[in-house]
Amino acid sequence: MKVGILGGGQLGQMLAAAARDLSIETLVLDPKPEAVAAQITRHLVADWEDPTALDELAACDVVTYEFENVPAAVVQRLSRDVPVHPSPDALVFSGDRIVEKKLFRELGIETAPFAQVDSRADLDRAVEQVGLPAVLKTRRFGYDGKGQAVLRSAADVEAAWERLGEQALILEGFVPFDREVSILAARGRDGEMRYWPATENVHIDGILHISRAPAQGVSEQLLASADAGLTALMERLDYVGVLVVEFFQLGDRLIANEMACRVHNSGHWTIEGAPTSQFENHIRAIAGLPLGSAEIEGFAAMINLVGEIPSLAPLEGKPDVHLYVYGKSSAPGRKLGHVTVVANSRDALEERIREVLEVVGDRAASAI
Ligand code: AMP
Repeated sequence: MKVGILGGGQLGQMLAAAARDLSIETLVLDPKPEAVAAQITRHLVADWEDPTALDELAACDVVTYEFENVPAAVVQRLSRDVPVHPSPDALVFSGDRIVEKKLFRELGIETAPFAQVDSRADLDRAVEQVGLPAVLKTRRFGYDGKGQAVLRSAADVEAAWERLGEQALILEGFVPFDREVSILAARGRDGEMRYWPATENVHIDGILHISRAPAQGVSEQLLASADAGLTALMERLDYVGVLVVEFFQLGDRLIANEMACRVHNSGHWTIEGAPTSQFENHIRAIAGLPLGSAEIEGFAAMINLVGEIPSLAPLEGKPDVHLYVYGKSSAPGRKLGHVTVVANSRDALEERIREVLEVVGDRAASAI
């Protein structure tokens, strides 16, 4: 069995590691020579459209992707010769915030109010319709809060339009959420499903900072309704692999923000914190193997290392603390590694998180 992976960043690296543990070979395509997945698997350094590289990938048993901006033509070309999972259809939905939100609504998954914005006049109409505060976002290619502007009052409209108005946009109602929560699920080729417990996420400047699992304050009933939403999405998209939906929790409502048709940063804790990681179940799903359990007994958290890697020496060798340094060069806002901690009580987990934040510097504290 050989799995082709489009994209060789840290997600590709962790997918390749999970495949290796299952004795499955991998091959990564990424135009960047410095792609970090190359540390552990074969890496084709070629343009996405390179015919020779695509022929090599098409000779794999199955192809998957670790990021969602893969050119549609590439996925279509590959899917003529080899199964591509998740389905190219899923990319069409997750790649456009309007199409995605319409799908959520069609399936009964709540979203914030939203309106399409293609002109300055549209923006005025959208502000009327959605109300303020609101968030203006690019429909496509946004990640880590890039391509977004918060409109708190009418005075912010013009500047936001000047910054973003060149692109197709969406205006979304601002959700004064209690917490952000992501739900990860895996679906096998035979339709078998696994759901990890809800993960609670803290973002700073749109970039994920800390994930904790299980999330506090998400009732069984709320979780069941979110899981039902993911089931509906996966069935509708004939989905195979791991899917994540990011929600805002507001009281007893979960309001969907966006989905990612791939493994996700908020699921890194599953490597040590769950019986089966998101990476292993993604590989299992696309390879047609039975899925492993996603039920957890203890508590886990992940802290991202963003921008630069601090000295991690005080954390080395500590029990229940796991260090990941991806081997990428430093840059502001770039995710360079993460630390996972596990514990058998919530208090012990918080204590470990504090220990890690003391060493890596708490961006939450420094951002205030
Ligand atoms: P996104 O790129 O859509 O994941 O947005 C990045 C982050 O910006 C989210 O994780 C939230 O913290 C914040 N955000 C985005 N959209 C909204 C919204 N409609 N209401 C409130 N906060 C938002």
